[in-house]
Amino acid sequence: MLKRSKYCCSFKLCVPDGDNRERLVCNVCGHIEYDNPKIVVGLVAIDNGRVLLCKRDINPQKGFWTLPAGFLEHGESPEEGALREASEEANAIAKIETLLSIYSIPEIGLVQLFYRAKLLNKDVSAGEETQAVGLFSKDEIPWSSLAFPSVEWALKHYQEIGSKKQFAPFTNP
Ligand SMILES: [Zn+2]
Repeated sequence: MLKRSKYCCSFKLCVPDGDNRERLVCNVCGHIEYDNPKIVVGLVAIDNGRVLLCKRDINPQKGFWTLPAGFLEHGESPEEGALREASEEANAIAKIETLLSIYSIPEIGLVQLFYRAKLLNKDVSAGEETQAVGLFSKDEIPWSSLAFPSVEWALKHYQEIGSKKQFAPFTNP
């Protein structure tokens, strides 16, 4: 097999030997371009019982509230990715306490990990993709203006455990 060059690939869809589903396979070098689900990582960052939410300034769901979260990048652990997203979206500095939940949305090829974290700075502010940030107590959460079902799940699951130390991570309700 030829060594793969970044630029040689001319893909066709076929089932590689020993595989059982169609993949994009390069005619020239044989490289198989696997297309697998993506990982989203996010934080439920808490300050004195209040949770940090970001009002999205990008589509989808522009204008709706979300937890700081985004796609994991190469070279990052999930924890590092979640902290980076909180920094980018809300200028937040946080300390991760524990894994809160793992949700999967097979229809769109996503696995989402949310961590419960302690928010460390008071001066959170809207980042590039955010219109506004806010800290919401239990009774203030804008349930009817949340961007995604998984944001609602993570907030409800956080409310179930509060600051409890021992619990099994939640999955899709
Ligand atoms: Zn190739």
